[in-house]
Amino acid sequence: MSAEQYDLLFKLLLIGDSGVGKSCLLVRFADDSFSESFISTIGVDFKIRTMKHGNRNIKLQIWDTAGQERFRTITSSYYRGAHGIMIVYDTTDLESFENVKSWLREIGRFANANVSKLLVGNKADLESERAVDTAMAQAFADEHGMKLLETSAKTAQNVEEAFLAMAREIEDADNFQPI
Ligand code: GDP
Repeated sequence: MSAEQYDLLFKLLLIGDSGVGKSCLLVRFADDSFSESFISTIGVDFKIRTMKHGNRNIKLQIWDTAGQERFRTITSSYYRGAHGIMIVYDTTDLESFENVKSWLREIGRFANANVSKLLVGNKADLESERAVDTAMAQAFADEHGMKLLETSAKTAQNVEEAFLAMAREIEDADNFQPI
C-alpha cells in the first residue's frame, strides 16, 4: 500500500511534561525503534503512519511538542485542527501525573471542544520505580471521560494499542470530516 492511499486523516498531538517519553513513543510507533539517547525532535514537527482499522486506512499525522512544553506554553496554533490528544505522564514520576490536570485545562482553552483525549502512562517497564498507582490513574481517567493505557516506548508494550485506541476514539466521536 502506498503511504498516499488513505480513507481518513487524523491529526494527533502528544502532550505532557518534558521527559515523560512523548518523542520516544512517537519514534516507537512511527519507526518501530527506541534509543536511550534519543535527543528531542528539534526541527521535526510531525511523523506520519498509516494504519488499518476495519476496512479503512487511517493516516495519522502525529505532532510532538518539540520541547515547547519546557516553557509551559504551547501555542494555540499547535492545538488547532487536532482530532485527538494523547496526554502522557511518566508512571515513575508523580508530578508528571499531577500536572495532567493543568494540561487538561490548557486543552480546554485551546483545543476544539469535541477533541478526543486519551491518558497514557508511559515507562511501564520501570515497575520497580512506579510512583503512580494504576487504580488511581484509572479513577482520574474515568472522572474525565478518558481511556487509560499504560505503555512502554522502550519495550513497545501497548504503544500500537494506544494509537489504535486514539484512532477509535476519534472515529467513535465522529468529529472528523471524511475526505
Ligand atoms: P519527551 O520530553 O516527553 O519527548 O521525552 P523523551 O521521549 O525525550 O524521553 C525522555 C527520557 O525518557 C529519555 O531518556 C528516554 O530514553 C526515556 N524513556 C522514554 N520512554 C521510556 C520508556 O517507556 N521506558 C523507559 N525505561 N525509558 C523511557
